[in-house]
Amino acid sequence: PKIIIAIDGYSSCGKSTTAKAVAARMGYGYIDTGAMYRAVSLFFIQQHVALTNPKEVAAALDQIHITFNFNPRIGRNETCLNGLNVEEEIRKMYISNYVSEVSAIPEVRWAMVAQQQKMARRRGVVMDGRDIGTKVFPDAEVKVFMSADTAVRAFRRQRELLEKGELVDIEDITANIEKRDRIDTSRAESPLIQAPDAVPLDTTHMTIEEQIDWVVALADR
Ligand code: C5P
Repeated sequence: PKIIIAIDGYSSCGKSTTAKAVAARMGYGYIDTGAMYRAVSLFFIQQHVALTNPKEVAAALDQIHITFNFNPRIGRNETCLNGLNVEEEIRKMYISNYVSEVSAIPEVRWAMVAQQQKMARRRGVVMDGRDIGTKVFPDAEVKVFMSADTAVRAFRRQRELLEKGELVDIEDITANIEKRDRIDTSRAESPLIQAPDAVPLDTTHMTIEEQIDWVVALADR
């Protein structure tokens, strides 16, 4: 029977890369919940939404429609915000620097969690994020909690950004990762914590291939 695989953990541990590949190998769907919070952040920036104004936030949330559209040309899903492909834009550093503040707003989380639960109504999904095993799908059959040394995470993130054409100092990336860890773990609404039944995975010394094999083996148990 098809199951839900929840992959949570800190920023830049290889969650998305692993989750995407696990989904492909198992013939499952893949949902990148971080992309959803990034798309909301982009919309808030574009519309100059004041994060401290609940009415503005609620009105903006009502205007946001996020979808993952399969692009056959690249064989991958692209994050779309109100029908526009924002996949590239939401990965940029200015979004990473803003997204944790946005995703700490309870109203934002309620809206996103409800959508994520709808998106995976049919099981057979790998979902990655911060609160999938604790909040979105507490009944997920498989839960992984990823971590890795900060220096390794910063290096991986820098290489990833460089591949996309953005050169960022390692100090700035490290500061961003540490800041997001801090906000994500200390927010009031479903903070980033390891679910009691999640299996921890430290990816510091692992290759992506090893991470994928590890999660698939766990799911096959
Ligand atoms: O996974 P990614 O690094 O793209 O996530 C970006 C940010 O979105 C995280 O740092 C976190 O603030 C937020 N997020 C969240 N809950 C999720 C997924 C992401 O709060 N389920």
